[in-house]
Amino acid sequence: MTTVLVTGGAGYIGSHACKVLAREGYTPVTFDNLSTGWEDAVQFGPFEKGDLTDRARLDEVFATYQPVAVMHFAALSQVGESMNQPGKYWHNNVAGSLTLLEAAVAAGCDKLVFSSTCATYGDQDNVVLDENCDQHPINAYGASKRAIEDMLRDFETAHGLSHVIFRYFNVAGCDPDADVGEYHQPETHLIPLVLDAVAGKRDALTIFGTNYDTPDGTCIRDYVHVMDLVDAHVLGLKWLENGKDSRVFNLGTGTGFSVREVINHSHAVTNREVPVIEGPRRAGDCTKLVSGSTRAEQELGWVAKRSDLKQMIEDAWRWHQTGHYEK
Ligand code: UDP
Repeated sequence: MTTVLVTGGAGYIGSHACKVLAREGYTPVTFDNLSTGWEDAVQFGPFEKGDLTDRARLDEVFATYQPVAVMHFAALSQVGESMNQPGKYWHNNVAGSLTLLEAAVAAGCDKLVFSSTCATYGDQDNVVLDENCDQHPINAYGASKRAIEDMLRDFETAHGLSHVIFRYFNVAGCDPDADVGEYHQPETHLIPLVLDAVAGKRDALTIFGTNYDTPDGTCIRDYVHVMDLVDAHVLGLKWLENGKDSRVFNLGTGTGFSVREVINHSHAVTNREVPVIEGPRRAGDCTKLVSGSTRAEQELGWVAKRSDLKQMIEDAWRWHQTGHYEK
């Protein structure tokens, strides 16, 4: 079987990717330091504990499994934290990725699928966010991901490391079977926090800013189902296996929802009140991030099947109610 090294395979998106890779006949080897991931999310292939900045450990894992490709999810990804502790983001995300790329090249592994983000575009009014759009990140998280994109281009030129970069919009929802799901500690993402408030696990959901220049004053995001997102990764992997050129793809649906709309849909799905507090803006938040591209559909043949907002909240709510990870 074809082996793929999955960094961050114990995390939210990485664990869903491992499930789909296994279903598609690959062996996903999870490489994760468990700083934000969970060992019991590793269910679909071997687990190798390790840190991206540990070159010797990476060399060992590449030598043991000789993966044909890397799917690189491992990263810190909280916008707010990145504004307060940028050094953590440059160290973990940028220095960690550099070590990973050097280890991959040394091991002769020449394909990499990378998790990037729409946060690399920054706050751009009235600009259609397609892959050719300029990148002006306004937070250290986005800046760290843009730096890795640059690094990938240099490594391709110098060392032939071919890559697919996916710029995610807002990933949401969970595995419909609820084998794996979303669990961050602390949780900072909107939908799980709304569901926590609905379930009484927190007093209320604080809306970060109600005076944005949007129809209801709250930020607008483009939510994409995690299962659709990881399907795109498998298509990206096959793209590279077929010898196609390195490419960047946005992963979003092209439809934006405000924070208040997410709250209203959550109320409709759960049939429970969402207790809400209106708070100040969160540093680093863009007003509106919505994908303006259909490149993934046209070139990869990607079809988003579950990315309807109601479906994403239903899947997240099912996972939430399983009580998984309530340790
Ligand atoms: N948000 C909010 N309250 C929260 C968490 C998030 O109002 O407790 C808002 C946040 O300001 C952003 C949107 O929800 O506009 C999505 O935030 P999230 O952290 O889920 O993803 P991000 O867009 O930062 O990647």
